[in-house]
Amino acid sequence: MSEETIFSKIIRQEIPTPLLYQDELVSAFRDIAPRANTHILIVPNKHIATINDVCEADELAMGRMISVAKKLAKEEGIDENGYRLIINCNKDGGQEVFHVHMHLLGGQQLGAML
Ligand code: AMP
Repeated sequence: MSEETIFSKIIRQEIPTPLLYQDELVSAFRDIAPRANTHILIVPNKHIATINDVCEADELAMGRMISVAKKLAKEEGIDENGYRLIINCNKDGGQEVFHVHMHLLGGQQLGAML
């Protein structure tokens, strides 16, 4: 579970998925199977398998993910109507790719989950 995933290849642009944002800590790109009109993934550049593996040294990157979500929501024009940020962890959380990622979902009314 600590092995790199396809997201590391996207971050390094070994796979030419267009990046919406990248800095020294995080990257963002569109989800390949969007579940909403806007569906973007924001990921730390460092491979961290799950939220359970986040350590104190990762706090800046975790915070940056939220700042980037806010910036991209504005760029997508969904900030005023609103959006949802989701991080899935392990089996019960529905995590499929074992590289921490935040889903930015919006552009439509999202069903009530919580
Ligand atoms: P999760 O269930 O939280 O692990 O979400 C993984 C997400 O990654 C899913 O929404 C997938 O559609 C998405 N995904 C998987 N492979 C790729 C890829 N190559 N490019 C963009 N998104 C991907």
